[in-house]
This record gives sequence, structure tokens and C-alpha cells, in this order.
Amino acid sequence: AVGSDGIRMTMESALTARDRVGVQDFVLLENYQSEAAFIENLRKRFKENLIYTYIGSVLVSVNPYKELEIYSKQHMERYRGVNFYEVSPHIYAIADNSYRAMRTERKDQCILISGESGAGKTEATKKILQYYAVTCPASDKVQTVKDRLLQSNPVLEAFGNAKTLRNDNSSRFGKYMDVQFDFKGAPIGGHILSYLLEKSRVVHQNHGERNFHIFYQLLEGGESDLLRRLGLEKNAQQYQYLIKGQCAKVSSINDKNEWKTVKKALSVINFSESDVEELLSIVASVLHLGNIQFVVNDQGDSQLTSENQIRYLATLLRVEGASLREALTHKAIIAKGEELKTPLNLEQAAYARDALAKAVYGRTFSWLVNKINESLAYKESLGLGKRTDSVLGLLDIYGFEVFQHNSFEQFCINYCNEKLQQLFIELTLKSEQEEYEAEGIAWESVQYFNNKIICDLVEEKFKGIISILDEECLRPGDATDLTFLEKLEESIKNHPHFLTHKLADQKTRKTFGREDFRLLHYAGDVNYTVMGKIKSVNFLCVNFLVATLLPKPPSPTRCHPLPQGAAAQPHTLPSSTAGCSRPTLHIAKAGPPSPTRCLPPSKAGPPSPTRDFLYFQNVDWGGGMAESQDVSYGFSKTRRYKLFSIRYKSLCPDTWPNWNGRLADGVATLVRYLGYKPEEYKLGRTKIFIRFPKTLFATEDALEL
Ligand code: ATP
Ligand code: MG
Repeated sequence: AVGSDGIRMTMESALTARDRVGVQDFVLLENYQSEAAFIENLRKRFKENLIYTYIGSVLVSVNPYKELEIYSKQHMERYRGVNFYEVSPHIYAIADNSYRAMRTERKDQCILISGESGAGKTEATKKILQYYAVTCPASDKVQTVKDRLLQSNPVLEAFGNAKTLRNDNSSRFGKYMDVQFDFKGAPIGGHILSYLLEKSRVVHQNHGERNFHIFYQLLEGGESDLLRRLGLEKNAQQYQYLIKGQCAKVSSINDKNEWKTVKKALSVINFSESDVEELLSIVASVLHLGNIQFVVNDQGDSQLTSENQIRYLATLLRVEGASLREALTHKAIIAKGEELKTPLNLEQAAYARDALAKAVYGRTFSWLVNKINESLAYKESLGLGKRTDSVLGLLDIYGFEVFQHNSFEQFCINYCNEKLQQLFIELTLKSEQEEYEAEGIAWESVQYFNNKIICDLVEEKFKGIISILDEECLRPGDATDLTFLEKLEESIKNHPHFLTHKLADQKTRKTFGREDFRLLHYAGDVNYTVMGKIKSVNFLCVNFLVATLLPKPPSPTRCHPLPQGAAAQPHTLPSSTAGCSRPTLHIAKAGPPSPTRCLPPSKAGPPSPTRDFLYFQNVDWGGGMAESQDVSYGFSKTRRYKLFSIRYKSLCPDTWPNWNGRLADGVATLVRYLGYKPEEYKLGRTKIFIRFPKTLFATEDALEL
């Protein structure tokens, strides 16, 4: 047995090792609030291939950009049923803890994975799913569910991921996946919620970026028969929508192989051959749409240069060629109860074409997700175990996006992040408070930054930014981007998180353009341009094209790839677009989320021989560290008396081998002997609350002596 001196000695001997590999929990750092110490620790560990580190209960991971031998079955076994601090930090520890919490507390759990593009979020969600696939109980029937859960990924990635400058496999949509379990803890179903698909990518890609993977996979891998039926040529250079980024071929991507993977995955998740054919017809129709060109006729109105694409489109989309042609060159307005057709000019026609392509692709993506959900849904008839009420959710959100020019899409994404942050704070605080109350410990209110003020700024009825945009869009006549900006300035002056060129002081004014407004987000300041906002919102109205163009499925028995496409109400208002409340609503009933924050090793992407992890210096925390620390408000670790005493009773002569009184008194004696200071812990009804994880780590170290 050792006293507090013993603990100190152990800590000292452990120091040498820590010098080399850093500490596994940032709170163990002496000066843990220093950013430099934080980054230094991260770098030490990265050098030793230790990519995972904790900040209290938050997992931080750094993308290694190489295969590490830490994901084997043996590794998975090591994390089953053990406590965080007994094993080195790992994504499996997070997976296992959430799983156990869900089973023992019968409460929904959510693992929230955030970080910038290329940081490893999607890979982390896949690792977690694999962990469940391997470690959860299985039977033949359960195996089918596990396979479908795993195979939904390649399909979603084909349609929702693309090569960007920062990540060759960048997710261009947000994903929230629920896994349902039976009473034995086996996965028996799932559900995927997708949101904010980056539809603009369908018609435009920046230099060095690609369209969604599926287009290239189809052209590269598609059998010649299939391509003939779809009227496609095996050459990406032929398609306007695929050549904008000038990089159809990427060395790290094998489109042909991916095609095979996707086809196989589609069959695992129960897509029939005709489903697949319908799906690909729509993909092909987008490519044909992109090749439609217009010229001006003598009246100055636009008309199609060739009938070629229309022919294919009419067949693939099963619509009348004439109505398609009409929709691309005319717009319908209702005046005095009568429908009038007015011709579009060149710019408008091109706009209508692109809007149609985006809408068609967007609807197809939703259809695909629905179809995957049908296949994942728990079905009693399959003879699976009885279902429990709690689920385990995985949220792969795309992090804050800040570009040189930030448009409506970035606005939606960043607002969504803001909402999730708010939810995260609320859930963590709420559950902590509940636990304190249950244990009879006084709740200490802690100072933290509540970002509700920013959420309100965006979403409040009548005076929030979205409300004002809604209003401007609906105002007939002369609403423009600039009148929208004026309205914003009028309604939201003197807000601590909002600025425009006009509202800013002389010095700040230099940092943004006249068409920008700035939001001071919790993670940093972002300038958004108002240019194109009204237009982009109004052109969502072009969805009526889709509604009119794509008819309802002819019979209820035949499944057409666009069933809701035809039936759904067109989106007309930005409030429905910014609607990131979808994932937040789903998470709102869960317990405290387990946050995982992924980091790229350098700002510029994968490390290279000349550009290695030293670039950690460039890690832009943008509030990330503060955010992670903010979440350990009160006591960071709690342990049930029983577990605590079983594990540590050998450290004190009075509790070893047995304590013959109340368990709580035994633990009190034990921690006093170990030298815990009164401010470091509190004793509740059934648990001990420990303020700093380092106290627990030191006790753990003493065990090894
Ligand atoms: P985005 O926001 O753009 O979707 P992301 O955070 O989802 O980015 P990932 O696609 O998960 O990023 O990771 C990018 C690449 O980094 C992966 O394709 C893979 O090559 C590599 N990578 C990520 N995590 C790991 C890991 N744990 N081990 C090895 N390689 C990894
Ligand atoms: Mg991703």
C-alpha cells in the first residue's frame, strides 16, 4: 500500500515516459490552458503514432494519413467493457462507453464527431460502426443488419462525397445515423438522416475539385451495354458538368474499382436491378442536362441548340420532350388567375437548366437515403430480437466553413454547427445537473459561453436573419440582394455578433466588402456575401419545375426513383433550406453527447516528407480548445463507490482486504489516506465525484507500483 508520498513518486517515475510520448489527457498538463503546451503534447504523441488524446471526456484525434495497426480485432477486444482511464485513448473507447451507457442507463446516446474537412470524421464513424459490427452479439439475421449498416456507407459516399482541394473523399452532406439494438445488445436496425447536401456541386466545381463520385464511377466502370442504354459516352471530358474543375482523374481514386464496390453494396442493401437502373437513369439525365446549350432567336429569346439531349432526357426521365423544352426556355407566371408563359433570356435559361439539374440530383439523393432506410428499418418479421427503445446515434457533421467568399450554403452549414454546439452545451449541463441532484450534491453553476444569442440572431421569428430573408424573398417586385442587406442593417443594428460595412467602425470596415455581413460565431468570425442570396433562394422556387416535370409514379406498385420528388411541396423559403433543425431535433432527446474532435495534421492536407507534423503550429483552434474545456464544468469524473473501492482498496491498509462498514465511509477513508484534498472531490449518495481527472490518473498509477 502507498500513501500520498508514494503517489508522488510514481508520478515522478512516469514523467520520463511522458516527456517522450506526452500525456494522454490534456488536463494532466501542468499548464493545460496554454495553447503552446497543448500543441506540443499533440505533436509528441503524433510522432509516436499516438493519434488519440483526451481533454477530459472529449476525444481529440489527429488524422495520421496512413494505416496504423490499431484497428485490429485484438484492439477492439481490449476496449470492451473497460473504463476510459484503464486503457490508452481510442475511438473504440468512445464507442464502447456509449454502447454501455445506452445499455445500462437505457438512454439514447450520441457520438458527435466534428472537425474541419479532411480531419477524419467520416473515417471515425466507420471505425465506430466496425467496432459494433465485430464486438456486438451476432446471429445470421443480425449479420444481415450489420452488413447493411456497413454497406450503406459506400453508396452514400458515391452519391454524397466528392474530391475537393482538401480531401479526396470529402463528404458534401451532413449525416446522422441511428443504430437500434435489441435487449441482448445486438444491432437490429438503423436510420440515416442526411441534411444540407451541397447541390451546387452538381453544376459547378472549383478548379481542382470534382463533381460527386458517382458520375465518374458510372462512366469509368459502367458496362458498355448500360452506358448505351443511358446514352452516355465513356469519357468524362464530354460532359459540361464534369469538366469545370479540370481534374476528372485523380491518382488516389480508382473509379472503376469503386464502381464495383458500390454495385455490390447496392445489392447488399437490397436494391433490385431495376431500382439500380432507375437510379442510374437519373444520374445520366443530369449529365445530359448539363450539355444542353441555348442560343438567342430573332426575338431575343432563348432556344435549344440541339434536340439531342432532350431526346435522351425525355426517355430517361419519362417525360414529354415538349414539356421539358418548354420548361427550360419559358417560365410560367400566374396573373389574374391565368397562367402566362413568358420566354426566358439566355442567362435565365441556363439558370433554369442548372436549377433543374440540382433539384433532380437533390431529390434523387433523398430518395436514395429513404431507400437505404427501408432496408435498414427494424422488421419484426425478420425474426430479430425484441427491440429496445434506446438508440445510439453517430453524427458526422461538417465543421465550420470559412472561405474567401462565403455564400448561402456556408451560412446554412455554420448555422447548423452553431445549433449543434448549443444543443451540446444544454445536454451536457442538463445531465450533469440531474446527476448532482440525484446524488444530493449542490449544483455549482459554472460560467460558460452560451451561444444561444447567435442562434437567436439567425432564427428568431420576425427579427432573425432568416425571417428577414424570407420576407424579402416574398416581397413582390423590387427586392434585391442589396435591399436585403439594408433590411438587415435596419433591423439588427447594435447586435454584439453582427456587423456590416456600414455598421463597422473605420478600422474594421477595411476587413470586409460592401456586400458582406459578418457573423461573430462561437468558433470565429465569418463574412457572408449577400450577393446571390435572393436569387439563390428564389431559384429554389424553380423546384416547381421538378414538381411539374417529374410525374407521380404511374402505379403505386412500381417504385420510381423520384416518388416524393413529384409529391413533395416545392421548397420556396430559405427557412426550409437553412433547416438544420433536423439533426438537432433527433439528438435533443439523447443523453450527454460524447464529442470527438478530429484534427488534420497540417493546414494543407496530408503530411509529406518536407511538410510534416511540425505544421501543428498552424493548428487554428478557432475556439476549439476553449470549447472542449468549457464542457468539463464541474467534476469531470464520477465513480460508483463499489467499483471505486474494488479497484483501489488495496492502496490503503484500512480498506484492505475488506472494509466492514458502509461503502461510502470506506471510500472516504480510502481517499483521505491517498491524500485527496477536500476541494478535489465530493461524496454523493452512490458515487464519488472527482474534480480533476489527474487525481484519478495518479491513483491509477499508484496501483502499478
Ligand atoms: P470531410 O469534412 O471533407 O468529409 P472528413 O473529416 O470526413 O472530411 P475523412 O474523409 O474521414 O475526413 O478523412 C480524409 C482521409 O484521411 C481519409 O480518406 C483517409 O485517407 C485519411 N484518414 C482519416 N482518418 C484516418 C485514420 N484513422 N487512419 C488512417 N487514415 C485516415
Ligand atoms: Mg467526411
